[in-house]
Amino acid sequence: MKKCKSCQTEIDAKAKKCPHCQADQRNWFARHPIITGILILVLLAMVGSAIGGNKGGSSSATQANQQASASPTPASAQKITAKELADDFDANQVAAESKWKDKLVEFSATVSNITDSGISFTDVASKQFSMTQISCQIKDKSQLMPLKNGQTITVRGVVGAQTIGVIDLSQCEVVQ
Ligand SMILES: [Zn+2]
Repeated sequence: MKKCKSCQTEIDAKAKKCPHCQADQRNWFARHPIITGILILVLLAMVGSAIGGNKGGSSSATQANQQASASPTPASAQKITAKELADDFDANQVAAESKWKDKLVEFSATVSNITDSGISFTDVASKQFSMTQISCQIKDKSQLMPLKNGQTITVRGVVGAQTIGVIDLSQCEVVQ
């Protein structure tokens, strides 16, 4: 015997429904098989991506970049400012890379240069005469067409390493 969860009447321990108040006695997961199924899938996907991410981190930088460009862009980006990113790299490149590398970020900045491979933003750091600039690789050329130098846009991309002052962002897209 057990007590009904709803009306507290003593009922058969194996009963799925209370004979008195018809309250469902099964646990939450048994009552919501579809949500339970989705939760399990989400969990498996998270475990899968965690394992994939670890592989990327332990291999060489080139392999990590290739893996990053092969995987689809995650939906939610961390909203930051270009200055925040550039200042971190200006202060300490090693610390900045460990903080930002492989993170999907979104920021607004003024377009300095548009090239075949994407957009670059110079003069983003707060430090005077900083050489640090941000370069966004954009594969979709149609996103580059309507842009103009000097225009402020919002972009989203995955932070890579800094080379000769240039912070490289891959898989970029223009948000607005
Ligand atoms: Zn009951």
